[in-house]
Amino acid sequence: MELINIKSVNVRYKNGVNAIYDLSLKIKKGDFVFVIGGSGCGKSTFIKMLYREIKPNSGEIILGGLNVAKLRNSKVYKLRRKLGIVFQDYRLLPKLTVYENVAFALEVIGAKKSEIQVKTLKAIELVGLKSKTRMYPDQLSGGEQQRVAIARAIVNNPKLLLCDEPTGNLDPEKSMEIMKILDNINKTIGTTIIMATHDKEIVNKMKKRVIVLKDGHLVKDYEKGKYDDEIA
Ligand code: ADP
Repeated sequence: MELINIKSVNVRYKNGVNAIYDLSLKIKKGDFVFVIGGSGCGKSTFIKMLYREIKPNSGEIILGGLNVAKLRNSKVYKLRRKLGIVFQDYRLLPKLTVYENVAFALEVIGAKKSEIQVKTLKAIELVGLKSKTRMYPDQLSGGEQQRVAIARAIVNNPKLLLCDEPTGNLDPEKSMEIMKILDNINKTIGTTIIMATHDKEIVNKMKKRVIVLKDGHLVKDYEKGKYDDEIA
């Protein structure tokens, strides 16, 4: 079963830059997909169009039964509830504890207090931060902050987890810790994961599907991929 079906999508920014050209792609439920390519090839744009931060100029994106490209602004929340997002710079709320940062994602959608507590603690445990539940972001390392961001992104059990350079600010060891957590989420919960990265070592180690973008074009799609030296 496929979760995402992208058909002939084009994205052009207002300044005339074409960031995605005629891109067609299917992603199955439970897949783990890397989106790679050099700086400016369209990785972020690709991730952004999936959560409708950006609306394609043409083409179709069907995600979990929603027509993302045509979705009215007032209905975008329906899409956002199906997915979690992790960014390079964590984006935690500095005045909230680990627990509060994760719980916040459930509070804003009006979940019951009892449900919030159970799900929040479970998500924090899943990323290995049980002992840091009451700490604030500035008391945590970069790797730990990213783990909080992952817990927040998955706390409502989304079908899809989008990650835009999640290891971009981390050293190789911390990056691998993050990858183990993402792999575990993919394997045990079955969450579909799409991760934009230019981290060659990670892509080569994980042996997942790899989609290569170049100047906004999809140029390669490997089933169990590696990082092509030619695009680095
Ligand atoms: P990557 O994530 O692979 O570095 P991006 O998706 O950020 O690539 O960018 C793809 C292309 O679109 C680049 O040429 C970039 O300069 C351009 N671009 C990105 N964001 C904008 C924007 N908001 N307005 C205009 N051009 C943009």
